[in-house]
Amino acid sequence: MGTELQNPKGDEMSAAIDQCDLCGGLLKPAKTTLEVWRGEELLIIRDIAADVCQQCGEAYISAEVSEHLDHFLAEHHRHRPERYFAVPQYSAAQAMSA
Ligand SMILES: [Zn+2]
Repeated sequence: MGTELQNPKGDEMSAAIDQCDLCGGLLKPAKTTLEVWRGEELLIIRDIAADVCQQCGEAYISAEVSEHLDHFLAEHHRHRPERYFAVPQYSAAQAMSA
């Protein structure tokens, strides 16, 4: 519908990769969950569209989606979280003495 130019810089940057950088596995469109620390706060965004490696599970987020996420993270406190849940935290000392 619009008259906007489609990516005037060309397709190369946005060309979908179909192989995992880490293991060479095949990438398939799927959903991923992002965990981000903002200072002392841990934020979780779930069901993000991504290309996910069928072999190692690495998720690749497009530049467009990534830009949206950056924007959202900059103003996340203006949105009401879907839910809150408790996250157990342990110290390395506990882990090392187990
Ligand atoms: Zn992989």
